[in-house]
Amino acid sequence: MAKILSREHVFYTFDRSTAPIDRASLGEEVIFETHDCYTGLLQPEKDQRPGPGGVKYINPATGPLFIEGTKPGDVIRVDLLEVKVADRSFMSVRPGGGALGDVIQNRETVFLHRDGEDIVFKDRVRIRQRPMIGIIGVAPQGEPVSNLAPGPHGGNMDCTLIRQGASIYFTVGAEGALLGVGDLHAAMGDGEIVICGAETHGEVRLKAEKVDLPGLPTPFLENDDVIAAIFSAKTIDEAAQGAIHRMAEVLTKMAGLPLNDAGMLMSLAGELKICQVVNPEMTVRFEFPKKVLASYHYTFPGRTGR
Ligand code: CA
Ligand code: CA
Repeated sequence: MAKILSREHVFYTFDRSTAPIDRASLGEEVIFETHDCYTGLLQPEKDQRPGPGGVKYINPATGPLFIEGTKPGDVIRVDLLEVKVADRSFMSVRPGGGALGDVIQNRETVFLHRDGEDIVFKDRVRIRQRPMIGIIGVAPQGEPVSNLAPGPHGGNMDCTLIRQGASIYFTVGAEGALLGVGDLHAAMGDGEIVICGAETHGEVRLKAEKVDLPGLPTPFLENDDVIAAIFSAKTIDEAAQGAIHRMAEVLTKMAGLPLNDAGMLMSLAGELKICQVVNPEMTVRFEFPKKVLASYHYTFPGRTGR
């Protein structure tokens, strides 16, 4: 029976000085119960997000979890074993919010519900449910970072690849890593242009392992098909450059590809994708197919021995 971390215990800033709510061993399965992005305060009958002063209730993460045997500089792999979301979710738009806020005139909130494999928008549009995690990260080594922002520690990356079956790598910044998880989406499009996916609460079952991959540029992700470098910066241009260079670094230094091969194959078979353009920093990822690495007789070592 996996340990359960209750959504009663949330934090709003990734901070190395936050006291952990629980401890887990390496390899131990833990379930994070998560709140939605408004800490459960938005209800259909009220049709309002948290009012003045309510901003402090935005983007809760459950935790932090102290992972025994981890210290600053270690690289951990977090395996996302199961991501379950509630049957009801919501979205909202408002003037000034997100990448269309310059033209949006009226605030509106829409509640969506699940029907079978789909979620239903305004009783007319069905979208395949694809649960993902908006916020996951570890405490940064330096200054605390608000859960509104992404960064080298992870945080509010809103990357659609962060879902069940993926493994995500972080460099530990504080004793015990202090892992936090929140902001689940029943579905979300790349870009997240009005600052929301189908916002909902749910449960994430995961386990963390320490891996011997010094120098891996983190956050980094792998699933059955791709490896991906995730990078956040003030502008999309800088974020794209960061993700591209990090992937090139992994392909040359770890996989041993000549730089020109890496560049050409990234241009031929890699995918540069926008995670989100609406948080305090923008997030971009570079995905590279594992199949191509196999042609170089290289297997990304992160999951070996799992
Ligand atoms: Ca988010
Ligand atoms: Ca969200």
